[in-house]
Amino acid sequence: MADTPHETGAILSIGDELAIGQSLDTNARWLASRLTDLGVRVVEHATVADDLDRHVAALRRLTTGPDAVDLVVSTGGLGPTADDLTRDALARLLDEPLVQDAPAAASLRRWFAGRAMPERNLVQAQRPPSAACLANPNGTAPGLRVRAGGADVFCLPGPPREMQPMFEAEVVPRVRRAPGVQVATRVIPTFGLGESDVAARLGDLMDRDRESRGLPLVGTTASNGVVSIRIRH
Ligand code: AMP
Ligand code: MG
Repeated sequence: MADTPHETGAILSIGDELAIGQSLDTNARWLASRLTDLGVRVVEHATVADDLDRHVAALRRLTTGPDAVDLVVSTGGLGPTADDLTRDALARLLDEPLVQDAPAAASLRRWFAGRAMPERNLVQAQRPPSAACLANPNGTAPGLRVRAGGADVFCLPGPPREMQPMFEAEVVPRVRRAPGVQVATRVIPTFGLGESDVAARLGDLMDRDRESRGLPLVGTTASNGVVSIRIRH
């Protein structure tokens, strides 16, 4: 990992079930809220089907070029089956082969202690040489951590009960808050005014460049007849 701050972040959710609308991406919401608490400005959520080319393209876009961020947290695609492509996507991104991580393989064998481990599960202990495995005390899939382009990339398992503890143990201690960044959010509900009336009263408080000038960012959201003003610093 480099030592530049994690000013911007993106969340990458992997899975056909998410892309086709079969299940709701609760990981993205949870991660966005945790990263915001930690002072990272989350600027994109991307969702990609279990498709190797698109997966690599999304990783490439979020780690290099104009859309690159400082921190990418991805979830999903770390299982043992043919549609679990996160390891392969990282290998392609980095132009590296996949190698077996001996400690991760040993911990997989321990996980299956006493039961026959399907040989197929061993692919979960593979990683590109420049990546590190992240221990998963709650399941079989280790996470992965790697530096790619200008970003630190963390790949976490899909199931929330595995992903959340791994995020707390492996990502949180490594997040580098940009100097001076403190996060406080207030939401103020308003009644009886349309969104554009509220915006007119807020005037230049809603300018989009306020954040880069070190000023609180102000936005509005209309929902069920209530216009809420959101102030984030
Ligand atoms: P995977 O690691 O892609 O095999 O995902 C395993 C399981 O994790 C899925 O079947 C879902 O139950 C869950 N999961 C994956 N991604 C998400 C997500 N973005 N939000 C909530 N649950 C997820
Ligand atoms: Mg999947």
